[in-house]
This record gives sequence, C-alpha cells and structure tokens, in this order.
Amino acid sequence: MKETAELGLYLEALRAERTAILRWDLKTDRVYGEAALTEIFTTEQVNTSYSEFLLNKLPIHPNDRNYFVSFVDFIKKPHSEYADKTCEKVFDYRVLEKDGAYRWFHIRLIVHFKKEWPEYVVILLRNTDSEHRRTEELQQKAQRDALTGLYNKDYARQLIKEALGVPGTVKALLVLDMDGFKKINDNLGHLFGDAVISDMALTLAEVFDETDILGRVGGDEFVVLIRDAADRSRVVERCEKLRNMLRRSFAYGDGKELHVSGSVGIAMSPEYGRRYEELFGFADAALYEAKRRGRDMQVFYTKDIQAGQRKDKEENAVMQERQALLSNPQIFIFQMLYETGDARITVETLLALFAKYFMVHRVLIFQQKGGRWVCWFEWRADGIPSVGEEPGGPVFEYINAGFRKEIYGTFSECPDTAKVEGEAGQELQNWGVHAYLHAGIINDNKRIGFVGFDDCRGPRIWTKREHEVLKTFADVLGTFLMDQMRYEMVRKGYWHMQGVLNAMPQRIWVTSGKDGKVLYMNSAARRSLAGPENGEERNCYKVVTDSNRPCVRCRHFKLRGKCPVGLRLKHDAEQHNLAPFSVVWQGDGESNVFVDHNA
Ligand code: GH3
Ligand code: MG
Repeated sequence: MKETAELGLYLEALRAERTAILRWDLKTDRVYGEAALTEIFTTEQVNTSYSEFLLNKLPIHPNDRNYFVSFVDFIKKPHSEYADKTCEKVFDYRVLEKDGAYRWFHIRLIVHFKKEWPEYVVILLRNTDSEHRRTEELQQKAQRDALTGLYNKDYARQLIKEALGVPGTVKALLVLDMDGFKKINDNLGHLFGDAVISDMALTLAEVFDETDILGRVGGDEFVVLIRDAADRSRVVERCEKLRNMLRRSFAYGDGKELHVSGSVGIAMSPEYGRRYEELFGFADAALYEAKRRGRDMQVFYTKDIQAGQRKDKEENAVMQERQALLSNPQIFIFQMLYETGDARITVETLLALFAKYFMVHRVLIFQQKGGRWVCWFEWRADGIPSVGEEPGGPVFEYINAGFRKEIYGTFSECPDTAKVEGEAGQELQNWGVHAYLHAGIINDNKRIGFVGFDDCRGPRIWTKREHEVLKTFADVLGTFLMDQMRYEMVRKGYWHMQGVLNAMPQRIWVTSGKDGKVLYMNSAARRSLAGPENGEERNCYKVVTDSNRPCVRCRHFKLRGKCPVGLRLKHDAEQHNLAPFSVVWQGDGESNVFVDHNA
C-alpha cells in the first residue's frame, strides 16, 4: 500500500490509537496489512500461514487461546446462515511480549462470506493494555484498603460470602484485633500507629495461605476466612504463630514501654452456619470473650459465650437504669411509663428499683379514701413483714400528723423510731421499722396519699437526694391515684394515657422524627405554647419558640434516628427566653418526646 498524503494521515491516526486494520485472505491464508502492525504490536513477523501463526506461534495466554481455536475452526467450515453476508466475532486476549509481560488486545474479526463459505476476514486489532491496567487499578482501589493493601471491608465480605456458599469444606472465620493499640496512637502518634497496622497486615499475609481471604474491617480490626479448616489444630497453630509475631514492645519517653498483642475470635462453618453476618457476629462475640478473659489469646465461639455475654449485658442494663434513675428520676419515670404503657408494671418496676438503689426494706404506696388508708402497693425485702391492706390505727395518725411542707415537697419522716413514744412507737416496732421517709401524694392541693420508704435495719438520716426522688415519684403517682385514673383504667388504652399526660404539670409535646412537625401536646403545653391550630401540623420551632427557622442550637433536625434515649438538648434559653428542656425519648426514629420539666 502506497502512502499518499491522505493515507498517511489515516495511518497516523491508527498508530495514535494503537490500532491496525488487516485483511486475512482465507484462500491463501495470508494477511495483508500495514507496516504499522509490527511497530505497534511487537509480535513476530507473520511469514507462515496465518491460522498456523495464530494457533501455534503467537504466544497467547493459555486462558485466551480457545477463542482462536474455535475461530479457526469456524472459518474452515461453510455456514449457510451467513451466505453472501458478514458475521463478526469480538474478544479480548493477552499476548506474551518480548519483555516477558502479557499485554491486552482487543480484536474484532469481520468474516466476509462468498455463498456459504468464508472468503476473507477484516481484522481490527487494538492494543488495549493501558486501558486494562487503568481499569484494574480502579478495581483495586474499590476492593483494597489503602493503608494495608488487604481487601477492604466490603470486598472481603463479598468474597467471604461467595466462599461460604461453596459446600463441602469446613471453614473458619476469624476476627482479629490488636490489644493496646490506642496507646500507640496516643503516645507515639498516628503515623506510627499506621505503620503498626501495616505491619500487622504483613504478618497476616505471612501466616495465612494465599488462598485464604484477608481483609481489614477498620482501625486495628481484621477479618480472615480460612478456606480449609477441617483440621482444627492447624487453625490453632496459625493463631499461635500470629500471636507470637504480634506480641511486641515499643520504647517511648523516658524508658517507658508500650506492649501490644493480638486477640482472635473464631467461628467455625458450617457448625455455626454459613451466613456471613451471623458468623461474623459469632466470631466477634468470641473476640470480645478473648478480650474479656485478658487478651492475647484465641477463643472459639461456642453457645455458652453468647449466653454469658447476654447476662453481662443484662447486668449492665440494670446498672445503667440505676444511673439514669439517679441522674434524672423524672425523665426516667416518664420514659418507663411511656415504654411499658402500663402504670402498674411501671410502678412495680420502679419501686423495686428504688428499694434496691436506696437500700430500703419496704416501699409503700397508700391512698387515703375517706377516713381510711388503703395500701395500694407494697414491696418488701426478704423476711420483712407486711403492713397489711388497711392497717389504720395510732401509727397512721402519727404519720399523718407528721406531714410538713418543705422545699422539696410534703414529707413525714422519722430518722429513728426508737424515739417515738406511745402506741404509735410500739406499732412501728412491731412492723420492724427503724426509720421512715414518706412523701405526700398531692392532687389539687390536697394530700390524697403517700409513698414511703421504710428502713428496717437501724436509724437513718434521709438525704436530700432521697427526698427529691421520692417526691418526684409521688408527683407522678398523684396523677394515677386519682380515682378515675386507677391503673385498671390506664390499662384500657390511649385515652387514659392521654388523661395521665394531661394531668402532668410538665409541658409535654411530641414531634415527628422525620420533619419535626408537632404531633401531640398535653394540656400544660397547649396552655402556653402556640399549638397546632385546627389540626394543622406545624414545625416545633414555630410552636415552641414562635420562630420561622429552627433554633440555632437545636440539633433536633440533625438527629433523625440517632437520638438515644435520655439525650438532653439544651435550647438557647437566652435567645428564646425559654427554660431548657429535654428530649426524653425517641421511639425508633419516628417521634421525639419533649418534656419541659422546668416549666
Ligand atoms: P482493645 O484491646 O480493647 O482492642 O484496645 P485498643 O487499645 O486496641 O482499642 P481499640 O481496638 O478500640 O482501638 C482502635 C483504635 O484505632 C481507635 C482508633 O482511634 C484507631 N484507629 C482507627 N483507624 C485508624 C487508622 O487508620 N490509623 C491509626 N493510626 N489509628 C486508627
Ligand atoms: Mg484493639
């Protein structure tokens, strides 16, 4: 082919595109093309038959060779369906180049038929190696953790899921975490911490097989799937080897030392399932157990581990409840009431908690009915006698006469019953009461009952905190103890709950967790806030602060679904001339309950 000016341009463009166009004559089995072919593609000069060259001389990657075998087979046979037409075959393949590396090519073979016989093939050949490498790099980025080069969390999960789906072999899922890593960051710096993490990744790669799947889950935590874990002792061996390599000390400061090690949790599959999420949870529980038992060890997941941790969690929950009760009894009571929706259960649970927390031996709720005292509820510690349902008598006259209005509420208290004289003193002795603190339940300025703590151990000075908590509780009970709101009725449903809410002196309102619209306000809130008019829903900032924008410091709108129970949000009191109020509850992100308990 002669290179005219136009053709020159055309060839130039092809060279730039690293593309060649060739014609393969099937009668002679020879290829005609441009010299550019040899410039672009550094393969051997084709001086044999072209099919022979493709099948036997061109060093094609073994995985790609079949494309050519079937193509040569195709063009050696007649195909009536393509008579006097063309047909195209396209594929990507790799060729071993002189420098010993495989390069990617894209080939388009357009077969021209004469009647049903292939006559010649137009070949469009393009060197796509750099494109392929770029795609691979991007893929790597999407699949690998930048710091360690191991698979990232998502890709490791995907690979492990696939591997777990392959039946027939025992596999082990390991979750690994460095012990004492935070101190490295804190004392030697984040960069040093990064180096330790990279080092841990290298150690993992050294200890586990190439066929195992290694990923970084985040921070100093890694995941490994051992594909063949039929021999459990080998899994243990690997863990021990790994731990020996991870156990290291770093010197810092004036002769100080930091120690790091590694802990491993292991869940076996299929023994504990084939689902990734489930197995990961089990391995993580085992890791937690390894940390709990003192770190630098591996623990295999068993059912007992889960049970033990559940017990721990329950104990923790009780501790947290006590803490919440102490720090803000009002919110705690309201939250509990709202959650159980049952006054009786709330009251019983709370009284038992109070008794435990304040170490008292008897907690009582009495209601005054006409001239009688009716015991509505009594909680007693083991071995403490009951005061009976309608005790009456001199002791009640004594207690009744003792009620005084104080700063925190109305109380009748006695630090030492040994000093109470007469029949009342005798009766208190009979009931085993050494000290008591009773808070009046007030409704409409009338005392309608009391809540009491009895200490049956010895004399006791009642603290300010005990006064406060008991008074708060008595306030809430005041609303229940009104006859029409006895717990049996509260049980009956929503309207009674509304009655309870409306009877509370605090302003309470509920907003939608989605858009902040006010959904409900109790009577106290409706009295002083610009509530929804004619059922029209309005934003809380409009209703509460009469402003057209969310408050500057209000994080309510950013909290959707995140606000934990009891989180307190302080509004800018000065800006809006409002007392601070609290979000007390957020039910599954659907709504927020606000209680302005300072109103
Ligand atoms: P434990 O034995 O309970 O695991 O204690 P630990 O000190 O190892 O604590 P933990 O595993 O909870 O600490 C992980 C820390 O890793 C917390 C986080 O600040 C830090 N971290 C997370 N990602 C990186 C990172 O990419 N580089 C560095 N240097 N630190 C990270
Ligand atoms: Mg750690």
